[in-house]
Parts: sequence; structure tokens; C-alpha cells
Amino acid sequence: MALLEGENLTKSFGGVLAVDDVSFSIDRGESVGLIGPNGAGKSTLFRLITGVHEPTEGHIFLDGDEITGKDSHDICHRGLVKTHQIVRPFEHMTLLENATVGAEFGGRDVDDPREKAYESLEFVSLDHLAHTEPDELSVGALKRLEIARVLATDPDVMLFDEVAGGLDTDETEAIVDLIGDIKESGKTIFLIDHVMRALMSVSERVFVLDNGQLIARGSPEEIQNNQRVIEAYLGT
Ligand code: ADP
Ligand code: MG
Repeated sequence: MALLEGENLTKSFGGVLAVDDVSFSIDRGESVGLIGPNGAGKSTLFRLITGVHEPTEGHIFLDGDEITGKDSHDICHRGLVKTHQIVRPFEHMTLLENATVGAEFGGRDVDDPREKAYESLEFVSLDHLAHTEPDELSVGALKRLEIARVLATDPDVMLFDEVAGGLDTDETEAIVDLIGDIKESGKTIFLIDHVMRALMSVSERVFVLDNGQLIARGSPEEIQNNQRVIEAYLGT
């Protein structure tokens, strides 16, 4: 059964049609990748889903309930969250405190926010740094802290916007493994990435956005061999 659905989603910013009549459906437990050239509308589509922007037209459903136009806090409370592309933890708080903010203010009724935050740090292998501040973390560790913050909200659906962006090979590998673990824990995943190897290895299906439109969808193998996709994106 579909857990997350978009129906004829459109978003225009003045004269710019960032998302153009996009419909899609993602089942519970699925992991779906979203690719496309810069400016294709990927981040905007994610912001429509998480309630940062209201669609100009169209509808969004989470577990059968319409969430179109609801605010991010409400959507998080219903179990859908997104990692930020640019990670900015609170500087003068420990990693545990940072993750606890996710558990407390994410809006879900987490019984023991601090315990949930600690578990999330363990999950991303940062528990040994729980009581330190984030100022000396590597880029990869910052991305894992961001994942912990979001995990601490106890979500059903996680959206990742370029979570492997700017990482070296080892850090990328660690993130890919981590997303695999998150998927195994039963969560539904929708992710944007430019690191093709990483994205294709964690996605069961891939959607391709170009100029605001979904031009293709299929298995990673089908997408990598799709002529239109190669021309629009993969070939460049
Ligand atoms: P992607 O994430 O695929 O690189 P974006 O969703 O960021 O693409 O952007 C899609 C288009 O929408 C671009 O032309 C971008 O300039 C425009 N856009 C995105 N956000 C805004 C905004 N808040 N205001 C105006 N234009 C925007
Ligand atoms: Mg983007």
C-alpha cells in the first residue's frame, strides 16, 4: 500500500515552474532515489512534501491522509522528516543535546527523548562523542549527526537531500551502509543524490526529474540504460 503519494504536484515561483505536474507513489518500506540535473526541481519537490512550500496545484497524501498545505511540524508529527542539505548543528550544545532537540521538538510522542537521542547516536556510530560539541566533527560525521537528529524523531518516512554530497569515498561508503541499516529497520526512504553509485546501490526504484517533470521511473538498471535519462543527465 502507498505510504507517500503525490498527485499532479506543481510549484511555480513567479515565472519559474520548478515542479511541473508530478505524480508518484512510494510504498511502505520502499527506498526510492530521485535524480536530475541542477535546477530540475528535486529540492523543491522535497520541500512540498515536508510542508516548507505549499504546492501551487496538486495533493500530497501520507498513509492515506491528505497533508497538502500542512506545516513541517505537523508533518513531522505524522512521521515524515527530511535531512537538511546544509548541516548546521547547534554549536554550543553536545551531540546528545543536538539529537535530543530532534526527539523533543520533532513533535512525535517520544517517551524518553534523551534515551531516543542516545539510541540514534549509537545507530550512526557517534555515541562515543555524545558529550562533545560538534565543532570538530568531519563533514561525514556532521552528516551522520544530521541523520541522528532526524532518526530521533522516530519517523516512518525519511527524505535525504544530498546526504552524500561533499563526502570522500570512505565517508560515502559509511553513509551508504547507514542508509541500508535504516532501510532494514523498516523505514521508507526517498533520497536525492548526485553520487550515482551510492544512490543506485540504496534505491530499489529511481525517479528522474528534468525541468520540473518526472521523465522516467524504474529500477536502477532500467534508469541507467534509459536513453532519455542518459541525454538529460547521466551522459553529461
Ligand atoms: P534542484 O534541487 O533539482 O537542483 P531546485 O528545486 O532547488 O532544483 O530548483 C528548481 C528551480 O526552482 C530552479 O530554477 C530554482 O532557481 C527555483 N527555485 C527553487 N527554490 C526557489 C525559491 N524559493 N524561490 C524562487 N525560485 C526558486
Ligand atoms: Mg537541490
